Amino acid sequence: MIPYGRQSIDDGDIASVLAVLKSDWLTQGPAVPKFELAMAKHCNVPHAVASNSATSALHLACLALGVTRGDLVWTSPNSFVASANCALYCGADVDFVDIDIHSGNMSVESLEEKLRAAAKNNSLPKVVIPVHFAGQSCQMERIAALAREYGFAIIEDASHAVGGKYQNQPVGSCQYADICIFSFHPVKIVTTGEGGMALTRSETLASTMRQLRSHGVTNRAEHLINESHGPWYYEQQTLGFNYRMNDIEAALGLSQLHKLNQFVMARNQLAEHYLSLLKNVPGISALQQHPDCYNSYHLFVVRMLQSDQSLQRHVVAALRAEGIFAQIHYIPIYLQPFYQQRGFTPGYCPNAERYYSQTLSLPLFPELTSDQQNFVFDRLTTAIKHC
Ligand SMILES: *Cc1c(COP(=O)(O)O)cnc(C)c1O
Repeated sequence: MIPYGRQSIDDGDIASVLAVLKSDWLTQGPAVPKFELAMAKHCNVPHAVASNSATSALHLACLALGVTRGDLVWTSPNSFVASANCALYCGADVDFVDIDIHSGNMSVESLEEKLRAAAKNNSLPKVVIPVHFAGQSCQMERIAALAREYGFAIIEDASHAVGGKYQNQPVGSCQYADICIFSFHPVKIVTTGEGGMALTRSETLASTMRQLRSHGVTNRAEHLINESHGPWYYEQQTLGFNYRMNDIEAALGLSQLHKLNQFVMARNQLAEHYLSLLKNVPGISALQQHPDCYNSYHLFVVRMLQSDQSLQRHVVAALRAEGIFAQIHYIPIYLQPFYQQRGFTPGYCPNAERYYSQTLSLPLFPELTSDQQNFVFDRLTTAIKHC
């Protein structure tokens, strides 16, 4: 069986986890701040706040930016449901901006058009969440210019893009965003089992997210409202959560981080090989790459240009019958029954829907061999031919 993605764990990773298990702290020890510091350094950003998932980091980011009842958050429909759910956790409403069908990312033109209309009827978003689909950064410079013009904040959902670059800066540097979110789920670029992180240049946003991730409690002298009762003293100042990452996860993350560049390079080499195989096949194309981006290649997506959903379903079934677990990313979020119950209907984002019916993600992970890639590609082209 060839999965579409899987983690790479080596003896160094195992030794790092074992060392924590034998230490004094399983959680709230030294490993989490160490991992945060190392990731911040890698991303060239001053603050990193680890959490137990990207989903909780997205929730913390929305709360820190003040998202609440009556607010609007916009995101891409071509993403995992967590990119949208975070707004609803805060009591806000969510809306979707259609994608550029060639890259799978939020279309800046559609965003601008939607903003212009929203400005007229007083329904501008408080936060926009662009999603760096498959590992390629969105056009952040242009989105940030729109943010200044229309007055919204930006959370990058960079769950796919850990280790990628935009304009030669690491994704996560927050040059064009208030907060950037990473996921460390095992199918992503580096893993902690479950885990996520919020990166920011703002000391205030970082400290708000730190407090909210641990029950809304603080014990830092400079943050206390009342006079301290003594060294045991802490204060709950707002309603927070237990969204903490533990030391076992952080030790794995730190060990994985040392291999991040190597993983991303391997993914790029594998992508190059897929691209060279694709060259001679008419009717199938890869996603368009923007020259400003260094893709971390969480996913390698092919688009069957003439396809409708029946061809796609046939191809996925044929590949799975051969043990190749091609996957589809993504069902447009608003087509989920939960979102349809909230009033969204098919046809809302036509490009996202066409994209969904024409694409599939081929297996891609650092240990994939070129023989396996050739096999995948052979079965893909055969399945298309026999349809
Ligand atoms: C995986 C993923 C998430 C959620 O990540 P978790 O760490 O599993 O909570 C959010 N957004 C996108 C785009 C993802 O791919």
